[in-house]
Amino acid sequence: MANIKQAFVHASYVYTCEGILQKDGRRLIPEDASAIEDGAVVFDSKKIIWVGKTADLPAKYKKLKTTNLRNKKAVIPGLIDSHTHLVFAGSRAHEFARRCAGATYQEIAEEGGGILTTVKATRDATIEQLFESALKRALIAYRFGVRTIECKSGYGLDHDTEIKCLTVVQHLRKALPQMTFVSTYLGAHAIPHDQKRSHYIDEMLHKTLPLVASKKLAEFCDVFIDEGYYNVDEGERILRTAKKLGLKIKIHADELMNTESAKLACKLHAHSADHLLKISENGIKALAKSNTVATLLPGTAFYLKEKNAPARKILDAGGKVAVATDFNPGSSYTLNLPLMMNMSALYLQMNSAEILASVTTNAAAALGLEAKKGAIMPGFDSDFVVLPYDRFEEMYYRMGW
Ligand SMILES: [Zn+2]
Repeated sequence: MANIKQAFVHASYVYTCEGILQKDGRRLIPEDASAIEDGAVVFDSKKIIWVGKTADLPAKYKKLKTTNLRNKKAVIPGLIDSHTHLVFAGSRAHEFARRCAGATYQEIAEEGGGILTTVKATRDATIEQLFESALKRALIAYRFGVRTIECKSGYGLDHDTEIKCLTVVQHLRKALPQMTFVSTYLGAHAIPHDQKRSHYIDEMLHKTLPLVASKKLAEFCDVFIDEGYYNVDEGERILRTAKKLGLKIKIHADELMNTESAKLACKLHAHSADHLLKISENGIKALAKSNTVATLLPGTAFYLKEKNAPARKILDAGGKVAVATDFNPGSSYTLNLPLMMNMSALYLQMNSAEILASVTTNAAAALGLEAKKGAIMPGFDSDFVVLPYDRFEEMYYRMGW
């Protein structure tokens, strides 16, 4: 296909995020969104070529194929959902009803429910079934403005099923070239019920991780470090092995209790530490000084009726914050990233530039895509969304639309 240049002109605002990038996504004020009024973008099928005021459009671009947005529509970078568990089978709707009627997570787990329900269904599913359901979910995310989505494995908890789930992401890439999929191996999501803990860890270290790396089935490795899951030493062993094999790393950190795993994420130069509901003051300080992105998941706190992460403290200390859906069948069954942005405004007290950064530039940094995604500037990917309204703030003012 020819690489044809074209232009969008008279956008009510083009939110370039240039100011956010200049401040490395930290300590942001609303003006850092760098909204260009009556803006224009020149781009081809791959890259953004020029951005500025429509009145300043260089003469050489005036004859291009042009779309006039009539000062009614805003342009923002394609949204990035940097933490999802997109690939799994089965439904936990019945359990959700039980939980809402008063059953505890523990009671449901003892009845063989919880994550085990999903593990069993995912092991039983064919690759085609997993692909079909993940494809439908990706298209839902797309309609919410998401153009880049991270997808974790972790509902197999055995070698074959984990590989099967990561293979599904490769199929998604081919089926939906209009989206970017980032694949994460999360074999250490929970302790399997049918294998000895030490045996499973050995399997991850010596069998699954080397295969994932050599076949390039994932770009990231993630570990759930928490009480009842993997401890800090086990997490560190798995993540160090992953790094040696060339994978980037992330941690499900300090969610159920404080294990100082956010500090571990900084020490290991992880791209992100995610959840952070129980992060300590030391963890906050460590994040503020590091390049590790603090990924907050307000949908999970909402769904579990837990207290939110101390977002304001992390932001005011100078942390770099991303927000994601944590889409998963047990604790955040939503693909609606704009709804998470609404929660970020209401409950995490984030300002408009902090919210924009959290789903664009900072989310890109959490995925190692900061040079290509998350901003509308020359050289970045032609990856942006035209909103059906004139300001970015309309997007999260609308609750769950
Ligand atoms: Zn998660």
